[in-house]
Amino acid sequence: MTTDGRLLIVGAGQAGVQTASNAREFGWQGPITLLGAEPHPPYARPPLSKAFLNGTATEDTLALRTVGFYADHRIDLVLGERVEHLDLAGDGTGSAVTGSVRRRSFDRLVLATGAEPRRLSLEGAGLAGVVVLRDVHDATTLAGRLAAARTLVVIGGGFVGLEVAAVAAAAGVRATVVEAASSLMNRVVSPVTAEIVARAHRASGIRVLTGVRPARFVGDRHNALSAVELDNGEHLPADLVLIGVGARPCDDLAAAAGLHCDNGVVVDDRSVASDGRTLAVGDCANLPDPSPPPGPAVRLRLESVDNAVEQARAAAGTLVGAPRTCRGVPWFWSDQGSLKLQIAGLGRADDDVVVRVGKRPGQHTALRYRGPRLVAAECVDSPADFLTVRKALAAGVSFSREAAADTGVPLKQHFSAM
Ligand SMILES: Cc1cc2nc3c(=O)[nH]c(=O)nc-3n(C[C@H](O)[C@H](O)[C@H](O)COP(=O)(O)OP(=O)(O)OC[C@H]3O[C@@H](n4cnc5c(N)ncnc54)[C@H](O)[C@@H]3O)c2cc1C
Repeated sequence: MTTDGRLLIVGAGQAGVQTASNAREFGWQGPITLLGAEPHPPYARPPLSKAFLNGTATEDTLALRTVGFYADHRIDLVLGERVEHLDLAGDGTGSAVTGSVRRRSFDRLVLATGAEPRRLSLEGAGLAGVVVLRDVHDATTLAGRLAAARTLVVIGGGFVGLEVAAVAAAAGVRATVVEAASSLMNRVVSPVTAEIVARAHRASGIRVLTGVRPARFVGDRHNALSAVELDNGEHLPADLVLIGVGARPCDDLAAAAGLHCDNGVVVDDRSVASDGRTLAVGDCANLPDPSPPPGPAVRLRLESVDNAVEQARAAAGTLVGAPRTCRGVPWFWSDQGSLKLQIAGLGRADDDVVVRVGKRPGQHTALRYRGPRLVAAECVDSPADFLTVRKALAAGVSFSREAAADTGVPLKQHFSAM
């Protein structure tokens, strides 16, 4: 395995930075170019809907690495350049054409192009007060508008939308969340956890509506946003709307270059794409379910820091000829105001759920079972349960449902006894 070729990483987000860093750490000798379309040094996105929005984090504190890190690790960081086209030879070498019409040749290519927010093609969706949140530019716009807003409507009751609604409510903005499904975060958490979270948000003054969709965004006579009309006819006054209905993978480059894409660049567990040479990592990749064995044979896309880091490590291992075969249990967190949701493992809608209610109000753990086997846990303000379940899943052990339901005994005590 040659490690002295030119490595090009397209996309300088969480997964791109991690791949560059790990490739160097694991022994890649050749030049590494990390190329990103955004003008900012690589930064963490999670605070954009939390600490950055409430003013407790700044652009400087978002940085993923120090300024000197890239030079110290001989990583050529090129910012503000978008790759428009890829030419891929069958052996994984090729060249990338950027917006400045520069051609960059490479011996190995990693795609880390992330995802972009889905938008809604409804009447009024182009009004200035209708925004999305993906990058620091969006977050700066949102923060500025939030400071002047009295009413916010969030379309979509997923993690990002709920985090933003919580920040808005804490700042005294009247916030309403509009979710089309019958429960919040419905692709990811069980209805019982969704209900606990909805109750907490309602208690802090957020109006949470489920089973309803926006029909159009209404402008006033100055063409400024004034309301959201719902499909049940209700008008919600709004001087700011956040569209938080998920993201689509940025896989167009890969598809145009002939790589198999299906809701993301299709990769194997070593992050290798369909040509057997190119790698893809992070939000842009569609991977085999990484749940501990025997994970079901399904493919999915995971939008999380944990996945970006794990896939990047796998890619770097592959690049230096030392594939990593095991990875940690997938996990995720979401801070929604004072509520901390942590999820270990990947649940499915048809899992059984055993609930442990904690001592403090709202404290709760929902353990998901597939047959006799524990597969995931959703922990609200229960960090000890989260850590215990992560360890248990990694170790391949399962609590019995009876033990899980016994709130008199801490989960970690059951684990230590195993
Ligand atoms: C507001 C928000 C809050 C979040 N909160 C959490 C959280 O609490 N917990 C959690 O685990 N995860 C959270 N996430 C998800 C997490 O941030 C992502 O999963 C992670 O950033 C994915 O990293 P990535 O490198 O794959 O993609 P990205 O971070 O999106 O980076 C991709 C980069 O590639 C660049 N790019 C795209 N196309 C090109 C091109 N053609 N040429 C050059 N550059 C290109 C993009 O401009 C972008 O900078 C959050 C995400 C958002 C948006």
